[in-house]
Amino acid sequence: MDLSLRCNSLKCRQRLADRAVVTTCSHIFCVPCSDALGLSSSANGIRMCPACDAQLANPDDAVVTQLNPTEDYKTSVLSGLSPTIIMECCSRGISFYQYQVTQEIMYHDYMAKNLADRYANLNSQMDNVIKDANSEISGLRDKLERGFANGLKTSCNH
Ligand SMILES: [Zn+2]
Ligand SMILES: [Zn+2]
Repeated sequence: MDLSLRCNSLKCRQRLADRAVVTTCSHIFCVPCSDALGLSSSANGIRMCPACDAQLANPDDAVVTQLNPTEDYKTSVLSGLSPTIIMECCSRGISFYQYQVTQEIMYHDYMAKNLADRYANLNSQMDNVIKDANSEISGLRDKLERGFANGLKTSCNH
């Protein structure tokens, strides 16, 4: 049930399947967003995370990662490291993923609430339109009936 993460730029939210840029503040971006938002190179010497404004001072604070690593990469990436470091890397990787999933759920909750609010708003607007239309209709009907009654009266007088 692995789900692919989305670019953390809210204007983009592209599904990430291939290459992506990850930060030590647990954010992830597609490569075009990372370039456009100043993650790949810093104009003033300080890179900042576009999602949380964390300063990314060290070179490894934002790195390009391959989301579909090759078999040889999987074999070699942790080779030579001590089990303690390997476990640390694993747990940080899992934390990163967990954070992303939590953020995604929060985003969906927020969108759902937003939609529910908009629906309730539209609903009450609709109610008002219907109420106005109904009162206009009954006003017109009254006028019509009065006009008809007057018309009858005048025609009887003749
Ligand atoms: Zn993006
Ligand atoms: Zn961040």
